Amino acid sequence: MMIILSIEHSSVVVISVAGAFRKGKSFLLNFFLEYLYNLHKSQQSDSSLEWLTDDCQLHGFHWRAGVKRDTVGIWLWGEPIMIESVTGEMFAVLLMDTQGTFDNNSTYQQCMTVFALSTIVSSVQIYNVVDNIQEDALQHLSLFVEYGRMAMEQPHNFGKPFQQLVFCVRDFKNQEEYEFGENGGTDFLENVLQTNPEQPEEIKVVRELLREYFEDIQCYLLPHPGYKVAERQSFRGHVKDLRPLFREELKKMVPNLLGPHNLKPKIVNGKTVTCRKMMQYFKEYAASFDGETLPQPQSILNANAKLICIEAAHEAKVNYCRGMDRSTYGTRMMSEKKLLEAHIKHGITALNIYDKCPKIGSNEVRRLLLEKLQEDINAELERYKRLNEAKRVTGCASAMLACGDSVFLGIGLGSAASGAIAGAVLTLQAGVVSLGIVAIPISLTTLFFIWAYVWTKPCFERITNKNKTR
Ligand code: GDP
Ligand code: MG
Repeated sequence: MMIILSIEHSSVVVISVAGAFRKGKSFLLNFFLEYLYNLHKSQQSDSSLEWLTDDCQLHGFHWRAGVKRDTVGIWLWGEPIMIESVTGEMFAVLLMDTQGTFDNNSTYQQCMTVFALSTIVSSVQIYNVVDNIQEDALQHLSLFVEYGRMAMEQPHNFGKPFQQLVFCVRDFKNQEEYEFGENGGTDFLENVLQTNPEQPEEIKVVRELLREYFEDIQCYLLPHPGYKVAERQSFRGHVKDLRPLFREELKKMVPNLLGPHNLKPKIVNGKTVTCRKMMQYFKEYAASFDGETLPQPQSILNANAKLICIEAAHEAKVNYCRGMDRSTYGTRMMSEKKLLEAHIKHGITALNIYDKCPKIGSNEVRRLLLEKLQEDINAELERYKRLNEAKRVTGCASAMLACGDSVFLGIGLGSAASGAIAGAVLTLQAGVVSLGIVAIPISLTTLFFIWAYVWTKPCFERITNKNKTR
């Protein structure tokens, strides 16, 4: 139980891979799983880290040859992997696969929705491209530049709005000019981001300002993985079938991105996010895009504003309840007047707490949540009145816990109270289980789902057993 609770309250690192269909995104994520599980194991048993050994076979995210694609949306590895960072803090690492970013079968709106959502919720967005960073790949980043500009102009700005963007160029061919890996990638990116007068204005702006709005931008150049991987149906995940050069480059790239020295927790509105909060955040962000229209910078801003307000309202309400508990403590019934005086005093403190929250986004968002807070506080008052009334009848103090369920403030994360971790929280709420995969309709549009692999004990055991037998 203690371990589970610590997962819930751990800072979360979210690694996402986005890009066009059938370019090896899911395949890449399985190397991340292989690395993270082995790192976790070596940290737990204090042994040296071994991974991507000759006898290893990759599992996890579905990769496939052929043209049939999975459903548009975001897939989440249903279990956070706990990694101790170099500072000694435990991070819960979540891996995210996307489907349908820049794929001809989905609408542009759906592509951008998946891309925007995965970029916003991740601490590292890996932008997977093949051979080169094309103009359209840069064009897709213009939403973030637009948003970045808007966020920085707010009365309260939290610094750079996005964390890490990593271009991963697959099947890179021009190795006479640029070496594989990070060094070549850095030079290559430098060249790609250079502006010249012939470029269209919109993409020139992306080139000039991208670095302003992401804390860190990297680029890795990867070689072709070998014919066994690239050819249809022949690859079954056996590491020995990879081209050695590809394997070598991955052995450098993956620890560079996910090693204990390099993991950075997700930050939203200037604060690190815990595993449990992340689930609430997913929902808020998903709800702010409908998947039918293009995501707008204003909706990202309002989603962030809403998160700030929800948190401030929560703090305000908890504060109100604590104050009221103190004021109504004791076995004797209070007069109605005294009770109302206490209500006004603690109510004003609560509203002040709410009002102090950083101001971003539209006033409308703040106003709506203020109304909700007022309703909540009034409902709490009714509860205190009933408790007070009960003292007249029984004469005994009702030592009920104040706040009722307010710890979750109607966010619907009640099931988290049972100690469920991220994946399981989603699982429990969705209540739809089929063939080991859970569909979580976060947004109500028909095609837009966040999918999660079910987190089950057998799954965890399978993976740990696999490691043991090595
Ligand atoms: P996704 O749709 O982007 O997730 O692509 P998948 O991971 O499902 O991979 C699609 C196909 O490409 C599979 O048959 C993989 O074996 C193959 N593949 C994976 N990585 C690479 C790569 O770096 N280069 C090439 N040429 N093929 C790859
Ligand atoms: Mg895939």
